[in-house]
Amino acid sequence: ARIGMKLANLPLGLASEGSFGPDPFTGLFSLNIEMMVWIDDTLGIEVVGVASGRTNFSHLLAANWEQAEAFARAADFPEHGIVVRPRHEDDSRVRKGIADWESLREAFFWACGEADNGRAFLETDMRAHMNPMRMEMVAQASRDLAHKLRTPCPICNTPGFQIVERIPGLPCEDCDSPTRDTRADIHRCARCGHQVALERPEKTAPAGHCDWCNP
Ligand SMILES: [Zn+2]
Ligand SMILES: [Zn+2]
Repeated sequence: ARIGMKLANLPLGLASEGSFGPDPFTGLFSLNIEMMVWIDDTLGIEVVGVASGRTNFSHLLAANWEQAEAFARAADFPEHGIVVRPRHEDDSRVRKGIADWESLREAFFWACGEADNGRAFLETDMRAHMNPMRMEMVAQASRDLAHKLRTPCPICNTPGFQIVERIPGLPCEDCDSPTRDTRADIHRCARCGHQVALERPEKTAPAGHCDWCNP
């Protein structure tokens, strides 16, 4: 966003960025994190909207049409786009924007014909306009950003008074010892640095989250 702002000589910028990777907790499915950043150089602030959720990020090196078809069905094709390449994932020959079975079949056989190993590499199209799951995540990040921008600092009135830190230590309901559950959130102004710690409404954590009662 900063490069675009410099070119256009604007003090305001909006940038969106997405990343994909294995879910850090289970590793079982792929996680998509979308960020929407609002940059205001006049006020000297950056406000970040974030959303994360499951995604259908996946790929397959297919040797025959049956494999390719099964992969496409599992990836919710044709609602979600698929990208096809000959040989392997780094081949520069690529077909994108495939959105119907006829084109997918045609692209698959084209790729197999081009490939010296006779195989086609298929992957889910993660570009937002070809991927409804990602589009929904981008929308969620935008809503998060809008919500933060609507919340002004109580001291200097700058938009983007937001949660920057969580304080753990919510006491266990049985033994009263601090757990890793969030006790309070710290909201901070990106401009004047004013901050407040707001206690969470819940006063105790379930014993199941306690290292003493349930190690
Ligand atoms: Zn402030
Ligand atoms: Zn306990």
